[in-house]
Amino acid sequence: MLFIQNLSKYCKHKYDLTISQIFWLDFAIWPNYAVLVPPILRASEPRVISREAMLNIEPLMSSELLGAVYWPLGTGAAATCHPRKAVLALAEQAREAGVKVIERAEVQNLDTRENSSSTENHSPWQVSYRILEDRMDSGDSSEDVYLSADIVVLAAGSWCPHLGELAGVQIPVRPVLGMMWSTRKLIPNQVQTLIGSMESSFDWDTTPSQDAETPPRCTHRGQWQSGGRFSGRLTRHLYGKQTEEGRFIFGGDRIPHPDHKPGLVHRLPRLPGHESEQGLNMIRANKEHAGEVLPLLRDHDIERTWAGIMPFTPDGAPIIGRLDDSESPLYCATGLGGSGFCRGPASGIILAMLINDGRLHAHIGDKEGLLSLLRHTDPNRFSVG
Ligand SMILES: Cc1cc2nc3c(=O)[nH]c(=O)nc-3n(C[C@H](O)[C@H](O)[C@H](O)COP(=O)(O)OP(=O)(O)OC[C@H]3O[C@@H](n4cnc5c(N)ncnc54)[C@H](O)[C@@H]3O)c2cc1C
Repeated sequence: MLFIQNLSKYCKHKYDLTISQIFWLDFAIWPNYAVLVPPILRASEPRVISREAMLNIEPLMSSELLGAVYWPLGTGAAATCHPRKAVLALAEQAREAGVKVIERAEVQNLDTRENSSSTENHSPWQVSYRILEDRMDSGDSSEDVYLSADIVVLAAGSWCPHLGELAGVQIPVRPVLGMMWSTRKLIPNQVQTLIGSMESSFDWDTTPSQDAETPPRCTHRGQWQSGGRFSGRLTRHLYGKQTEEGRFIFGGDRIPHPDHKPGLVHRLPRLPGHESEQGLNMIRANKEHAGEVLPLLRDHDIERTWAGIMPFTPDGAPIIGRLDDSESPLYCATGLGGSGFCRGPASGIILAMLINDGRLHAHIGDKEGLLSLLRHTDPNRFSVG
């Protein structure tokens, strides 16, 4: 909440960023939809409402839906904002607070003092990085730059396993591809709420599909390590909204993706490829789903598609905290899944509290306010033995 208020004030001045109040309206397609509310949302008191009540709130929703799970969020409790502008705002705010931000830097190595050849300083970590020209620069013609550090925090999303290896620890995050599409600008303000689907929540709850290659809450099963690519569709996941300028943005597919190594040097995700026929078919299936909820979408073409990589964990919970397997202070914030934009800033705040506090995970109590949230994200929970 503090973050949202802060960002709101900041962005309005510097980036003309609008943070708006939202409602969330969800729809249900089963007669027993009342039991389909995901537990995490119960705290915000969702209401199951009739088709008539739903159409009163959003007249353009399909009249074929049975009703909706609807939860009005209290004043100031929720917001939508532009991801790129928000990241720029956060970076600038960090700089103002004294943080040195080094852009286009790819970490090459993480050495502890015992392994490091440097004898000059006493910090436990020596980090080497290279400045890359662009995302596809291999860095071969760049010089290594070194810096020493007392504490290292790995916050590199799906690339944390690779960085973890450099530091000698295992971080079991898997990359998952997320895909989105949008229409051209249409008449604005036709739909006010964020819209999601209960179908995937229902399927993930009743028929969990995770296995060694598939984290929880994916729409397809991963088969990369077993010689295939990915399975056919397991469920339909959907969320979206109308932007202020009038575009409808929807998406939801979550497809296990092969590892990207090393760090920054990679092509933007093309597998399964939102430009390939297979990728387009997935996008089309998602659009058809969206059209079942908002029939007006059936009359409008897809103008743009995009995709990105999201960090998923084997048990679905984030990985935030100190890694006990490292003798030198090593922390991690990853595994934020499909909600890292919302969860990221709060993860940073809580991790900073833990670092300042200096405690190990095992010593965090249940009743310690914000810090107790970290009990669910212990990075050491995957350690064998
Ligand atoms: C299509 C799509 C839609 C989404 N929609 C939403 C949404 O509506 N709401 C929401 O909350 N979340 C959403 N997400 C999820 C969200 O984007 C992710 O959860 C979030 O980006 C994860 O943040 P992160 O910082 O942990 O990892 P990332 O954003 O993946 O950032 C990791 C960074 O580390 C860098 N890196 C890797 N290796 C190195 C190295 N060796 N040295 C230096 N840097 C390195 C990478 O280049 C990258 O910039 C969406 C994701 C996608 C793909």
